[in-house]
Amino acid sequence: MAQQQQVDEQVSTEFVVDTEDCEARELAYRERGTARPITVVGNPVLHRECKDVTEFDDALASLIDDMFASQKAAEGVGLAANQIGVDLKVFVYDCPDDDGVRHTGVVINPVLDELPADRRVLDDSNEGCLSVPTAYAELARPDYAVVRGQDAQGKAIAVQGTGYFARCLQHETDHLYGRLYIDRLSKRERKAALKQMEEGTPRYETVPND
Ligand SMILES: [Zn+2]
Repeated sequence: MAQQQQVDEQVSTEFVVDTEDCEARELAYRERGTARPITVVGNPVLHRECKDVTEFDDALASLIDDMFASQKAAEGVGLAANQIGVDLKVFVYDCPDDDGVRHTGVVINPVLDELPADRRVLDDSNEGCLSVPTAYAELARPDYAVVRGQDAQGKAIAVQGTGYFARCLQHETDHLYGRLYIDRLSKRERKAALKQMEEGTPRYETVPND
C-alpha cells in the first residue's frame, strides 16, 4: 500500500519579517543589480496580467536585483516587474508603514486577501506611480492589506501592511494584474492625472511608447 502523499502547504499564514536590516538588504540587492528604464502608461506590458513565476532560479534573483536598482534610481517605494518591461508576477518594495517603520522585501505571484467588512477602513491619501510620472491623485483604499505569495526561493510567504505600506501592497499587486491606480479613478480624475503627466518631466529614465 502506498503511503499517502502529503499535500504541500501552498498558502502561508505566517507573516514574513520584512522590517529587519532593511538598509543592508536593500543595498545588497541594488548593488548587484542594474537600473533599467521605467515603462509608462500606454505600454502594453502594463495593461495585461503578467505571467506566473514558475522557475525560482538565478535569473529570477537577478531580476529582483535589477528591480531594487531601478526602484532606487526612480526613487520609488515599490516596483512591479512589468514596470521594467518584464512580464512576470514579481514586485519589490521599500516602504514605510503608518508608524514610520520601514518594510523591505519581494513578493512573487502575489494574491491580495479579501478583507472582512469590519477591517475595511478606507484611507483616501494621495497616490502616485512611477509609470504615470509626475501625476498624483487621491484614491480611497483599505488602510490594511495582506498579500500572500512566495519568496525568491519559492517558499510560501504572507506580508501585511498598514497605511502607506498597505496602499503600496495593493498598488503593486494591481500592477501585476494589468491595473494602474489611474484605472481606479473617475474618468475626470484619470484625465487630470494624464494631463499632469503630459505637462511634467520625470526625474528618471522612461521607456518611450511607440
Ligand atoms: Zn505603480
